[in-house]
Amino acid sequence: MRGIVTRGVGGLYGVRLAERPEEEILCRARGILRQKKLSPTVGDDVRVELATEADRREPLIPPEDGEAGRRGGSRMKRPEKRDRGVDVDYVIDAVEERRSLLIRPPVANLDILFAVIPCAAPEPDLLTADKLTVIAENYGIETVIVVNKADLDPEKAREIARIYGTAGYRVFPLSAAGGEGVDALRRYIRERALDAPDGGHVSGAFAGASGAGKSTLMTALFPDLRLATGSVSRKTERGRHTTRHVELWPMDMDGGTFWIADTPGFSMLDFTRFDFFPYDELASSFREFGDCLGKCRYTKCTHLREEGCAVLAKRDAGGIAASRHESYVRIYEEQRSVPEWKRRQNEGSR
Ligand code: GDP
Ligand code: ZN
Repeated sequence: MRGIVTRGVGGLYGVRLAERPEEEILCRARGILRQKKLSPTVGDDVRVELATEADRREPLIPPEDGEAGRRGGSRMKRPEKRDRGVDVDYVIDAVEERRSLLIRPPVANLDILFAVIPCAAPEPDLLTADKLTVIAENYGIETVIVVNKADLDPEKAREIARIYGTAGYRVFPLSAAGGEGVDALRRYIRERALDAPDGGHVSGAFAGASGAGKSTLMTALFPDLRLATGSVSRKTERGRHTTRHVELWPMDMDGGTFWIADTPGFSMLDFTRFDFFPYDELASSFREFGDCLGKCRYTKCTHLREEGCAVLAKRDAGGIAASRHESYVRIYEEQRSVPEWKRRQNEGSR
């Protein structure tokens, strides 16, 4: 059977089948995966089999630990004795090749990152939004821009929509609370869900500043989500140490299933990655810079302020929004302030 890992439960894994997502089966991971140093991660497409006697004698494999990845070294904790002998009927026998793997929060095969930007209350923070787009580009995850609270400042909504439309992103201006524009986004998500590969899945996560309206929007889009996640008190459980836990929730989209990755971790996506971003990758992570690269007068052009810079020329001609280039400069400067030794150290744990 082919399934999707939807949560880790102390060395066991919740797996759901694409064609029967309402039912979760609890699995252990087969010993062979440990030998390959491969921990199943939420979002993995996996193959599941009935557990054998030998499987049942194996120690459990702990789930991917986002923190361990940063410390470097092996991501595998040593199995603990008391884990032996847990009785479950199924095993994960194989993990399909990953399309992407986010380390913090740990989630595999995320397809879409919805970057939620409010027009007002709180003031839009485009630098943070641009950092999200850069991270997503680097992980091979598609960004969709949601401009929320359009009701509060329609003019600002149009301006932000223009900035990201020019950059080449899908943009949905809407009002999560009032409902205007929510249907267009839901239709888009449904289309994407219907495009899922056979036995595979399409997933997304909502990121953005606190107060941007992520919870309101998710509730509007997926009325079942609150039911699935269990309680309204969930927010209070979101302490400092919960950021590493991701859970995938199958949302029924009229004939398709869209898998929502839910974790408080997405509001503070791994910005520490910027510590060890090679400079030359930064420019190419701004997708609208792409057709300029290699066309500047100086081959080592930083695109900050050089004469004959193709990026600056495109910006001046209106092909690159001023705010996007400002973010580029800010991120570039932030990176430059990271000492070389730290950069190296971080590269090692990449
Ligand atoms: P989160 O922290 O990103 O999950 O944000 P919430 O969903 O909790 O929303 C923060 C506040 O913004 C709440 O008081 C919402 O009612 C409000 N809000 C969300 N969407 C909209 C909207 O489209 N228009 C307006 N005016 N308020 C909104
Ligand atoms: Zn340049």
